[in-house]
Amino acid sequence: MSHGQTTTGADFHARSAAAMAQPGLSAAVSGAVLRQYEGRKALLPELGDPLAVRQLAAEIKSHTLQHLDQYLSLFCENVRRHGGHVHFARTGEQAGEIIRQIARDHGVKRIVKAKSMASEEIHLTAALEADGIETVETDLGEFIVQVGEDKPSHIVTPVIHMTTPQIARLFEKVLGTPYTEDPEVLTRAARVHLREKFRAADMGICGCNVGVAETGTVAIVTNEGNGRLSTTHPRVVVSLMGIEKLVPTMKDLAVIVKLLAKSSTGQRLTVYTNLMSGSKRPADLDGPEEFHVVLLDRGRTRILASEYQELLRCIRCGACLNACPVYRTIGGHAYNSVYPGPIGSLLTPLFEDFSEYKDLPNACSLCEACLDACPVRISLPALLIRMRDELRREGHMHWFQRLAFRAWRWGMLSHALYGMGNRMGRLWDWLAPRGWHRRAMPPFSIWTKYRDLPVMAKRPFFKMWDDLNPSA
Ligand code: SF4
Repeated sequence: MSHGQTTTGADFHARSAAAMAQPGLSAAVSGAVLRQYEGRKALLPELGDPLAVRQLAAEIKSHTLQHLDQYLSLFCENVRRHGGHVHFARTGEQAGEIIRQIARDHGVKRIVKAKSMASEEIHLTAALEADGIETVETDLGEFIVQVGEDKPSHIVTPVIHMTTPQIARLFEKVLGTPYTEDPEVLTRAARVHLREKFRAADMGICGCNVGVAETGTVAIVTNEGNGRLSTTHPRVVVSLMGIEKLVPTMKDLAVIVKLLAKSSTGQRLTVYTNLMSGSKRPADLDGPEEFHVVLLDRGRTRILASEYQELLRCIRCGACLNACPVYRTIGGHAYNSVYPGPIGSLLTPLFEDFSEYKDLPNACSLCEACLDACPVRISLPALLIRMRDELRREGHMHWFQRLAFRAWRWGMLSHALYGMGNRMGRLWDWLAPRGWHRRAMPPFSIWTKYRDLPVMAKRPFFKMWDDLNPSA
């Protein structure tokens, strides 16, 4: 895959250093994600054979991707059969324009919006507000982000970086809620504020957690009921859906929904699972008069045809973020992307400018915790290594790193050089002034700024090996 080589402006190192210096951030993020991580670990055994279910989910998604053209056409046929309208958008700009045109056609003044990562990708809320349409995020986390003029820092729990006192002060300022750190009172204040927005909305926008081809169904899962309110009361509803969100059948949907809840927030099921198939029928008590699905490509077909295809299996559960020691330490903002963490480190360079986000595939210690966490078994560490290699081939690796890896390769291939390196390390341990032997010399000192240089073993491994295998 070839990518444009433009700017190198997105400085991940500076942003992560700033995040680490932010008081309380690491503690807030890691405390919150660990709760989800532990919840997932406790609930997965309820699936009986969790590995088999994860394998099944991976196979469902892979099969769909390999026949995506057929399932997309079946899905569209069924949405239309239920009175819905289908639009295709190759780019984010096209998707935004389609949705803005639907709003203009219906004289829409107020929109309520459920959480949607695809809409974050295309900055939909800002585009609609620029058209003078009041657009309100109704997911509590996204609502806090919106009123605080902040950015989400996690794909499932957007305000994981904020503490309760910070939210309390924000609500006091924006909603006039008397200062309280009681989450129930704060949630009630948001609910009262949003209730009026739901009543007055002309249009609802949602994403799509799973699309079912055999029925033309859009499934959204939420914990607050805001998804249901955003899609049943307004007269026009638009679902913005990445083309990779499809599964073939309702049975497949059940597998994904079960895994999604357990993997993301450590719940048996999310509180609301909302299934929408077309516009309101005569016998229906509620539902939109018009239902639109906007199918978003935005680089997905390019990924589908590439060696990164398995990334499209992602169900956006956030489990890889929760498991990642790098994400837990720096939070999501340091990635400067809609998608942080391991999945973001791969998707962002593919969705956005490859060279601008060249730092992200290196934001990983290859501990493989994400591989263990991913419910659809995406080989995230292997793909990160592949992308690093692609960066190297495209000339995005610093000359010094190139040199260091070349030297390392020579050392590993030559017994004599390996032995010499060993002796030099031992000499450094012996000669370096006390307290200094844990720090490397420049330019390697950048590595030991945050870590200790390991002390050399008393007896090298290859000598022990020789002792054990004298004839070898
Ligand atoms: S890569 Fe896997 S673990 Fe990460 S968000 Fe996607 S499905 Fe979840």
